[in-house]
Amino acid sequence: SPTRCSVIIVGAGVSGISAAKVLAENDVENMLILEASDKIGGRIRKESFGGVSVELGAGWIAGVGGKESNPVWELARQSGLRTCFSDYSNARYNIYDRSGKIFPSGIAADSYKKAVDSAIQKLRNQQGNHGVADVSKLYEPPSSPKTPIELAIDFILHDFEMAEVEPISTYVDFGDREFLVADERGYEYLLYKMVESFLFTSEGKILDSRLKLNKVVRELQHSRNGVLVTTEDGCVYEANYVILSASIGVLQSNLISFKPPLPRWKTEALEKCDVMVYTKIFLKFPCKFWPCGSEKEFFIYAHERRGYYTFWQHMDNAYPGSNILVVTLTNGESKRVEAQSDQETLKEAMEVLRNMFGPDIPDAIDILVPRWWNNRFQCGSYSNYPIYVNHQIVDDIKAPVGRIFFTGEHTSERFNGYVHGGYLAGIDTSKALLEEMRKEKERKTESQTFL
Ligand code: FAD
Repeated sequence: SPTRCSVIIVGAGVSGISAAKVLAENDVENMLILEASDKIGGRIRKESFGGVSVELGAGWIAGVGGKESNPVWELARQSGLRTCFSDYSNARYNIYDRSGKIFPSGIAADSYKKAVDSAIQKLRNQQGNHGVADVSKLYEPPSSPKTPIELAIDFILHDFEMAEVEPISTYVDFGDREFLVADERGYEYLLYKMVESFLFTSEGKILDSRLKLNKVVRELQHSRNGVLVTTEDGCVYEANYVILSASIGVLQSNLISFKPPLPRWKTEALEKCDVMVYTKIFLKFPCKFWPCGSEKEFFIYAHERRGYYTFWQHMDNAYPGSNILVVTLTNGESKRVEAQSDQETLKEAMEVLRNMFGPDIPDAIDILVPRWWNNRFQCGSYSNYPIYVNHQIVDDIKAPVGRIFFTGEHTSERFNGYVHGGYLAGIDTSKALLEEMRKEKERKTESQTFL
């Protein structure tokens, strides 16, 4: 029969690792971390591209410079991670039309203000009408933007800067500055620094047998006595408790089956949380043809199709001389490019760039298209709760089912969708589990005394 551990943690993203660290600090050494992919980090993932490290997943430390310190910013400072200040509010002054003309700043500012006002109005109406907003309608364009510039601004506002419409806890609590991680060791270096304190590592490699990579959990059989965890390769592990950190997209998919099935209140809550797809496409060029400088770091393409190669960033501030551009797509556009070949995507992106910068610009020499939606260990990029979410939904998503505890960015009511959300969620879940373990021990002692 399988050896029994105290806790099995499913997933080695930031939340799984912060959860494991808290357990280790509280003398729960007998744990196992099962990770489906071939490395730790989850949605924090770097890849070498065009001679530098690019971040396929999380790229920014969001929420810096406020009264309270963002714990991820603290970790970055302690580990000497290289970061660059970036301010994408400038993007609205670098909006190109299809003929390569930049919209005058007055027109851009006016359209922007109109879009913000209309979004605020729409939110007020929804609040007034229903008390709780209708999830499905919230991320629709507030009025009906029609012109390319309106559509572009609507996209920036709703897919990037909701802060302008509604205060976002991250900025309220930690400050409104954002720093781009620009370190060859990657954002994931923070995670390696974290595991060093409780897993055996040597020369940057994790050699501890309590971390098992390429272990895809397919079944959690749970009872009053414990949990049996079965992986795709047929191994079975047994634990007193499980912490499950798989993303909301994975929980909505059928990758993991539960025996007995999850209760209805749980599955219904999981279904209510939207999954956002956010894709950063990297393009490497032989030389630079775009305007430089930090105020030009972000630029926008206004097209009649919402979200069509709209949001661009040059990587000169992060990696001078790298000649890399990044374009961000979301949701429907993300899914569309995930389904086509990278060559087709390259062709589309080049056409857009030629519209902005003229026919003579050189072709990109390399392209990188992450596929978060089709990755069965992610099924999307991050959770997206409606703004006036019913607290009960998040509570239900977070609540344990018997011996299975849930964690991950989607369980963080204040900071879902962020790295610090995952980090703090891991800590919270482990604390709740430690409390449960303490109570269980107490119950056992009591019954023994009674006997
Ligand atoms: P994950 O990192 O997804 O960890 C879960 C782990 O579980 C994964 O490693 C997965 O492989 C594993 N797993 C899943 N299923 C199984 C299974 N069945 N068996 C075993 N293991 C399993 N946040 C920011 O703060 N700033 C940003 O700029 C930012 N940008 C982002 C851009 C993109 C493109 C994406 C995708 C995310 C971005 N985020 C950003 C969000 C941030 O990356 C996440 O909120 C955070 O990393 C989530 O951590 P987690 O531990 O909750 O989940």
